[in-house]
Amino acid sequence: MKINILGTEYTVDITPASEDPRLTDINDGYTDTTEKVCVIDDMSEAEKDICSKGDLKKYRKQVVRHELLHAFLFESGLDVNSWAGNEEMIDWFAIQFPKITKAFDEADCM
Ligand SMILES: [Zn+2]
Repeated sequence: MKINILGTEYTVDITPASEDPRLTDINDGYTDTTEKVCVIDDMSEAEKDICSKGDLKKYRKQVVRHELLHAFLFESGLDVNSWAGNEEMIDWFAIQFPKITKAFDEADCM
């Protein structure tokens, strides 16, 4: 799917990890700002692993948010060597964004 990130079109590609060597056990997604692509593990192989997370569909959505946030920050002129490259911060936004959106909706401030 194509997603407009601040005027730049990115492709979001959700694919099996076996089809992309950059997807690994410790890397469930990545954003390549040179190719304008966010690639996310579809978790089809993780579903077969008894040690995987219980709700992989929910987790995959979190990874999509994480990678899109990287794209937004890059297209904003923020990337590595700034707070924007901090994985913990990106994850915080990716995890908390649905709750923030819900609170904003409840407060009717969007
Ligand atoms: Zn990241």
